[in-house]
Amino acid sequence: MNVLPFARRGNFWRGNLHTHSTRSDGKLAPAAVAEFYRDAGYDFLAITDHFWECYGYPVTDTRDLRRKGFTTIIGAEMHAPITSKNHDWHLVAAGLPLDFAPWTSGETIQSMCRRAHAAGAFLGIAHPQWYGLTTEDALCIPEAHAVEIYNHSCAVECDRGDGLVVFEEVLETGRRINAYAADDAHFSTPDAGGGWVMVKAEALEPELLIEALKRGDFYSSQGPKIHDIAIKGDEVTVACSPASWIVAVGAGTGSRAAHGRDLTCATLPLDAFGEDGHFRITVTDDKGRRAWSNPIWR
Ligand SMILES: [Zn+2]
Ligand SMILES: [Zn+2]
Repeated sequence: MNVLPFARRGNFWRGNLHTHSTRSDGKLAPAAVAEFYRDAGYDFLAITDHFWECYGYPVTDTRDLRRKGFTTIIGAEMHAPITSKNHDWHLVAAGLPLDFAPWTSGETIQSMCRRAHAAGAFLGIAHPQWYGLTTEDALCIPEAHAVEIYNHSCAVECDRGDGLVVFEEVLETGRRINAYAADDAHFSTPDAGGGWVMVKAEALEPELLIEALKRGDFYSSQGPKIHDIAIKGDEVTVACSPASWIVAVGAGTGSRAAHGRDLTCATLPLDAFGEDGHFRITVTDDKGRRAWSNPIWR
């Protein structure tokens, strides 16, 4: 059994891992982006501008936007040709060095991901549904730590915010991969503040947050809070903010669920998931907003 973030020391820190600024195609300058997230109660932010030649391959320096109680992770959204549907790849890299070398002609996304991984970054497969990324595409990025399970900007702009299908199909192959929610905010539509991660770390420091992200010590949310997930014997107990559904779902068609009004706790049997299978928890509130745990392998 992997140690769950709820059992680890430290606090949950709220952050957005995918955002754009005027260093690429965002509408707000980096300082205004950080101000929005500070005012909205976030603890950290990664500005991940498009790492394209037309923007000068920006790794946006956000160090001077750090304050007491608010920090930043240096990152970028990396691109290279070309997915099976002829799009440039989109990979979120959180935790890049400021001098991360630009893409050079002929470099593959696999090579860029190897470089980012070697530099210590957390790597996320961005908005798979938005550009029709296939499961085969996702599987050819072995360095990816997580799939974007929810992208708020894609939801607001084109009803393609979900990343569940690719995420679950990758899981079904036996690959251990996590999932994160993010805004991908550009601030030209109401695309900020809709999806985030809660990262368990001992202190609000960029390096500790990145290490926790890479370990999977986080959950994702559109609103609900998951206070605890604890496994005892053949049962899992979930404690959360008031919810209408609490679901455990695993491979194949295995699932168990509790339904009610303002549920703040549920104990579910694990008999549907096999001795060495995995399951994950989703908490849905009365507005339909969800929180997702990472997969838990038994
Ligand atoms: Zn993108
Ligand atoms: Zn983006």
